[in-house]
Amino acid sequence: MSAAPVGTEVPVGPEVVAEAARRRTLAIISHPDAGKSTLTEALALHARAIRQAGHVHGKAGRAGVVSDWQDMERQRGISISSAVLQLHHDGRVLNVLDTPGHSDFSEDTYRVLAAVDAAVMLVDAANGMEQQTRKLFEVCHHRRIPIVTVINKWDRPGREALELLDEIAEVTGLQPTPLNWPVGIAGDFRGVLDRRTGDYARFTRTPGGASLAGVERMDPAAAARAEGDAWVQAQEESELLAALGGDFDRESFLGHRSTPVLFTAAVVNFGVGEVLQALADLAPPPLAPLDAQGRERALDAPFSAQVFKVQSGMNPAHRDRLAFARIRTGAFQRGMTVTESRTGRPLVLKHVQTVFGSDRQTVEHAWPGDVIGLVNAAHVRVGDTLFQGPAVTFPPIPAFTPEHFGIAQALDLSHGKQFRQGLAALDAEGVVQLMHSERRGQGEPVVAAVGPLQYEVAAHRMAQEFRAPLRIEPLPYSEVRRIDARHAAVVDADRGSEVVFRSDGQALALFADRWRLASFQRLHPEVELLPVMAGAD
Ligand code: GDP
Repeated sequence: MSAAPVGTEVPVGPEVVAEAARRRTLAIISHPDAGKSTLTEALALHARAIRQAGHVHGKAGRAGVVSDWQDMERQRGISISSAVLQLHHDGRVLNVLDTPGHSDFSEDTYRVLAAVDAAVMLVDAANGMEQQTRKLFEVCHHRRIPIVTVINKWDRPGREALELLDEIAEVTGLQPTPLNWPVGIAGDFRGVLDRRTGDYARFTRTPGGASLAGVERMDPAAAARAEGDAWVQAQEESELLAALGGDFDRESFLGHRSTPVLFTAAVVNFGVGEVLQALADLAPPPLAPLDAQGRERALDAPFSAQVFKVQSGMNPAHRDRLAFARIRTGAFQRGMTVTESRTGRPLVLKHVQTVFGSDRQTVEHAWPGDVIGLVNAAHVRVGDTLFQGPAVTFPPIPAFTPEHFGIAQALDLSHGKQFRQGLAALDAEGVVQLMHSERRGQGEPVVAAVGPLQYEVAAHRMAQEFRAPLRIEPLPYSEVRRIDARHAAVVDADRGSEVVFRSDGQALALFADRWRLASFQRLHPEVELLPVMAGAD
């Protein structure tokens, strides 16, 4: 995001298109502990955004703990909040949207994935395709997002590279097309064979891995002399891959049919420069978006952006609220007035920031693909479109399928108003989903979550922020389907099920388990039971 003198005109046309073409907006998906924070830091280090690793996502015990905004995060050492990191490399601008690492925060993660054009799928070399990776992959698959696969921790004993590729192919249905191939087995990572040039990049360690690894480039003959059998094996395997159709193909990558693969040891910065270069070269730039009616809005149309995430309390010093919006078309300029599509209200975008760890910078200019943080835009909600010029609304950001349900009970009955306001705020942020059950009435709102940790976050924030402590009484449901509200009475009358209404008015049928659901379906074939995430069946 370039600084521009205040008061200049909003840029138009060719400048917008050129700036958009330089953008790569992506997220890293992985199972906790695969090394996402480490890789993010290492990418920032390579893009010279930081001088020493440990500054961006440092966890307890590492330098500069800056992503741990909230008390709970600090206590647990997990990253609940998420930040956007902007990296500049080789004339491109990479917007790396951090996705919360804990499985309970998939709701949030899901929203982040609605705002990216590509994803890095990070796989631990010893553990392969773990559960959370699979879940997140499904979300990317649903949106047909191009995926770059990174196999990390090659410095530690792990599985065979070809075996890992088999598993990736089997689980994802994508053809793996390695861009480079490790020289040395897992646990003996010497360097990589660049499959495009055939050359060797040998890595050397720097103390603690806190600064760039040394890279020595060699032609195949020199590589054979330096590494002997390890080089020969890498060459043979690379040739085998070529014979099996494992060479990179841009069209199938962009069409979500193949995935380029790279090998890293992020903790010592091995292979990270290659990942950065691949993302700059291969990840797709923002395209002209489709609106809710399926019409295209040109990239150089007037400014439009969609809010994909709202977060409170990111800065403990002032309890503020940040709404993150991804720019879809046109140029952003600080101070511009936009219309908020849901309410039709005008909004002056004066207080707009980028977030880099806990460091914030005021944004003057931003372009399609960039993410801006709107400070204290109190009425803005997830999914809202902001625009100038011809009115536009982008398709809603789908809600994740909850798996836990409970009744929120106020512990302090004199704070009824704060209780209601607090729950509504947490619903708008996606901390929990707030639902209304006609059977139970207003006094007993139902709260739903993907994982139980969300309940702890909700209880903590209700007590600390809204002064309305609550208790969540679990409900015995684990299956949920969308239904037409016409069928609500039929579902409600069935033993072992219940109907609740989401804050957007959607009716949901809750069932105790899969067997209850199946038996209801047999008895009432006329009731259509749809997956909560549209198209996710
Ligand atoms: P996250 O939960 O995915 O963000 O994982 P972290 O980045 O916090 O890494 C989890 C653990 O794995 C930490 O102890 C890291 O130091 C370690 N780690 C990350 N990358 C590597 C790697 O390439 N090699 C080795 N040996 N350890 C790694």
